[in-house]
Amino acid sequence: MSTLPADTPESPNDGVGDVFLDKTLRPNRWDEYVGQERIKENLSILLRAATERQQPPEHILFYGPPGLGKTTLAHLIAQESGVQIRITSGPAIERVGDLASILTNLGERDILFIDEIHRLNKNIEEVLYPAMESGVLDIIIGKGPSARTIQLELPAFTLIAATTQVSGISSPLRSRFSGGTFRLEYYSEDEIKTVLKRSAQILGIQIDEEALSEIAKRSRFTPRTANFLLKRCRDFAQVHKNTLDKETAQKALALLDVDELGLNRNDREILQIIIEKFNGGPVGLKTLAAATSEEQSTIEEVHEPYLIQLGLLERTPRGRVATKRAYEHLGL
Ligand code: ADP
Repeated sequence: MSTLPADTPESPNDGVGDVFLDKTLRPNRWDEYVGQERIKENLSILLRAATERQQPPEHILFYGPPGLGKTTLAHLIAQESGVQIRITSGPAIERVGDLASILTNLGERDILFIDEIHRLNKNIEEVLYPAMESGVLDIIIGKGPSARTIQLELPAFTLIAATTQVSGISSPLRSRFSGGTFRLEYYSEDEIKTVLKRSAQILGIQIDEEALSEIAKRSRFTPRTANFLLKRCRDFAQVHKNTLDKETAQKALALLDVDELGLNRNDREILQIIIEKFNGGPVGLKTLAAATSEEQSTIEEVHEPYLIQLGLLERTPRGRVATKRAYEHLGL
């Protein structure tokens, strides 16, 4: 499997321009945040109760595949609470000192957002425990028998963490998200259409209803992918001097190698390898990663959830199995 350049259906948000546009398209108000109703309701209660008690909300964990709106929720919570949000990620915090500096520089009631928290180093994770639980930072001074710990009082803060791999988070860390752990669900086709309509309006894209449906159907039920496909279809229509109707959308999507079910080349290759090389499975993740030259984490966090959602793949104790529907879809 080839390594794809940034800004493809496989990594639709890596292009610099797209990051900029993503900011423009990111909902700024709760009513612009489509779907995830149960989570929104829970958060609304959590935030109101905290405000009434004049305390910061308790720590929150969001998990689910990329592009479903975890970061956006963190921004909306900060906005609603009228506080600053400080954004970092698990791999960016390399040393205990990095975390100590972030924590001590937070303002009273600020939100600390840590993306990809499952990639946080375990020693650093341990520094988070007392910070989350008691609002203190334990610092060890000196080495060996003369080492001693001093405790620094931290400003009251809320940690909001996001992960694509909840199983990669240790249970002591998980149990400290006392405000709740929320799983983001894939969106319905109608919800994605609502996202697309708003994005088209913001970006000034003329698109008809049928073309919207076509993009929504192939968007992996994911707002970020939907926005990405919308922009690429707009480019295609512009270059070919066409209006963005169903036919143009279909041609643009075909050129991007996104099929009718929203599968990209890598999704199809994963299924094809399971079927052709491993007789349909079961095949272990490690073997599958080696056979497809794809990172295990990418298979597990990006491709698999969508293939499972579509009923094309099953995860069994002995490995991954392609379903009858996968054979049919690939015409095998
Ligand atoms: P994640 O953090 O889960 O990877 P993001 O919050 O960065 O996802 O969302 C990616 C983009 O998708 C956002 O910038 C926004 O444009 C769009 N988006 C995500 N969720 C929603 C939603 N519920 N309603 C409208 N747009 C959304």
